Amino acid sequence: MSGRRLIMQKNDVDYKKLNQINHWVFDLDNTLYPHGANLFSQIDRKMGEFIQSVFDVSYADAKVMQKKYFMEHGTTLRGLMSEQGIEPYDYLKFVHDIDFSVLKVDTALNEALHKLPGEKYIYTNASTEYAKNVLSHIGLNGFFQDFFDIHDADFLPKPHEASYHKMIDKFDIDPNSSIMVEDIAGNLKPAAELGMATVWVNTGVHWSDNGVKETRIDHTAPDLSSWLSHVTKNME
Ligand SMILES: [Mg+2]
Repeated sequence: MSGRRLIMQKNDVDYKKLNQINHWVFDLDNTLYPHGANLFSQIDRKMGEFIQSVFDVSYADAKVMQKKYFMEHGTTLRGLMSEQGIEPYDYLKFVHDIDFSVLKVDTALNEALHKLPGEKYIYTNASTEYAKNVLSHIGLNGFFQDFFDIHDADFLPKPHEASYHKMIDKFDIDPNSSIMVEDIAGNLKPAAELGMATVWVNTGVHWSDNGVKETRIDHTAPDLSSWLSHVTKNME
């Protein structure tokens, strides 16, 4: 009985608190579209091809280099910038030139987003150009108020704390009346520490729960579309 009550309490949504939210900050990849679209596998392939062509090495050697940069610098891009002086714009343009036709419009999600009160923003470790490409394929082009991307973050991606301070400054939002929605639990940690409420889009894939134990999760939404639809219905 008590176990059942615990589950019910955990799933309970505090609508009064959600009604006080003025700013919704959304991650892009695997948050606003299902992780099954697997855009990252295409990007990962392009990262290897970029290194292969710039350094004139085999694809296999390029992947070894990529892995080394990723391990030593947190992202492949930071490794390429600091060790090889690669221009980030060239790299980002190349790796984000992928097939977006795998993305589909989620009508229920888009309706819920349009009903949701408050300002909506995109906070991504990718570029704004890429984000706009994704959004145009999922029917959300022009919907978001502003973007904070990897250029705005001076190439220090989430979950680096400095990135969150810059994001809050750029959007000019009060973290105490803001909420962040994201599929990688650990990326919510700095947001929670700065006073933002958090929604974890638990996709069930192994990287989604990275950092979950150390992070204050206020809401869990394995399916963002149905969670937001439910929330907007009950906020009315
Ligand atoms: Mg994501």
